[in-house]
Amino acid sequence: VIGLDGLDWKVARPLMDQGRMPHLKALAERGTAGLLETFQPTFSPVVWTSIATGMRPEQHGILFFSQVGPDGKPLPNGLPYTSNCRKVPAIWNIAGEHGREVLDVGWWVSWPAEAVPHGRIFASYAAQIQGNILWKAGVWTNGLSDLSFPPALQDQMSDLLEAGAPQGPLGAEYDARFGRVDPRWKMEVQWDKLFRVAFHGDRTHVRIMERLLKEKVSALNMIYIGLPDVAGHFFWRYREPQAFHYKVAPEKISRLKDHIDVAYETVDAWVGEILQTLPDPEGTRILVISDHGMHAANLDRPNFPQSGAHEDAPPGVIFAAGPGIAVTGLPAGDPAVLGSVYDVTPTLLEWLDLKNPSDMAGKPLRGLMTPKWREAHPIRTGPSYTRGFRAATPPRVPREDANLEFKQGLEELGYLESSPPKDH
Ligand SMILES: [Zn+2]
Repeated sequence: VIGLDGLDWKVARPLMDQGRMPHLKALAERGTAGLLETFQPTFSPVVWTSIATGMRPEQHGILFFSQVGPDGKPLPNGLPYTSNCRKVPAIWNIAGEHGREVLDVGWWVSWPAEAVPHGRIFASYAAQIQGNILWKAGVWTNGLSDLSFPPALQDQMSDLLEAGAPQGPLGAEYDARFGRVDPRWKMEVQWDKLFRVAFHGDRTHVRIMERLLKEKVSALNMIYIGLPDVAGHFFWRYREPQAFHYKVAPEKISRLKDHIDVAYETVDAWVGEILQTLPDPEGTRILVISDHGMHAANLDRPNFPQSGAHEDAPPGVIFAAGPGIAVTGLPAGDPAVLGSVYDVTPTLLEWLDLKNPSDMAGKPLRGLMTPKWREAHPIRTGPSYTRGFRAATPPRVPREDANLEFKQGLEELGYLESSPPKDH
């Protein structure tokens, strides 16, 4: 399962036709592709937790980036939600506790890494400021406790974490794809710097995933990648300047208009890389999903960081291919809605030969499967997986002042010059 935050069909489809996203196109051609409905609010921690639990936000308890009060509004100094705040098991808990090997890398709200039987978990953590200005978790190169389960995985990946440092060697890889921006463009320099943090985080998680897959492919293997969403937020005004009510400087358009498309190309290349680490890519069932689409937004606000947004919950995408998946191919015209984000975990349960409970908001996407597969796998229902699950507890912090530390780190590196916008 590969999660690609904010990947939009309308952007991806022409790129597939131009041969710029060959791996997702190939998945669609030997399987199926379409839209995945989502819900509001489309905040990443909320939706990705629903994807991983099959539950509505009020059921799983992750309601924003950081704690909200009884009125539903973010608390002034609320701590970022952490895995122990989740009120229900995630698919990695359910799979592991039922004897299925599971590998999970970089998922939202997965820190501290939970002790999952038969599990390998590599978590990600976003401090408050990250949630506010970048909407993504970067890598914590200076060490974070409880980053992995089993704990030894963390040491095994220390070279990759170090290489992911903001000014580490991944910078050259970023430059080769996206180039540099004119240092005189104050806002764009800022956005480029934050976009680099997201790139380094994703690239590091992809490399960790590949190393762990090479060691062993589990029954369920899942990774989260945030890049398409961050690219969309920062760079939509350059890709579609005619949609905005202000003038975007032509030299900035020509320099930055391709950033979103290159981000899509990049994640497609990473999908290809990940599949290549599998001993039998075509004999493995693959699911690629996004949590929502995106479009031009904040049309009257030239200085606002977000010129692409998704508050109105435009649908995400779903690609599936492999054994048992019906081959319907790349849709010629408008893609069909194939399911909802709530259906992902019920579907994975079915694929893992586990029973589906009645308290999940979605249902297994049996329409993706061949009639033969459906016949061989009748619907199996069972009791709730939440029974006996540990109680939720308040957010943990990796260490005292983690948020301040992250903020100062960004400032020292010149990533942060001003306070983040208050209205996100
Ligand atoms: Zn977003």
